[in-house]
Amino acid sequence: MSAAGPLEVAVDRARCVGTGLCAATAPADLALGPDGRALARQGTAAALSAELAEAAEMCPVEAITVRRPATGEQVAPAY
Ligand code: SF4
Repeated sequence: MSAAGPLEVAVDRARCVGTGLCAATAPADLALGPDGRALARQGTAAALSAELAEAAEMCPVEAITVRRPATGEQVAPAY
């Protein structure tokens, strides 16, 4: 799987149950907001880091998605 290129990082905040797992795993990309739910720090990522991929994979409610904006291809979590 190619990981190069600008990617869109999104958190479905309605799904998030605030475990904090993602922020602990990929603190460069994800954080917990003041309401206790996760948010994407920049909303984009230059590439899919191992940490970001792991965070997307481990979210218990599958609230995190990383996509290639040009095509809509979901690069994480991988199905
Ligand atoms: S891992 Fe999922 S449920 Fe937990 S804080 Fe992050 S987005 Fe929310």
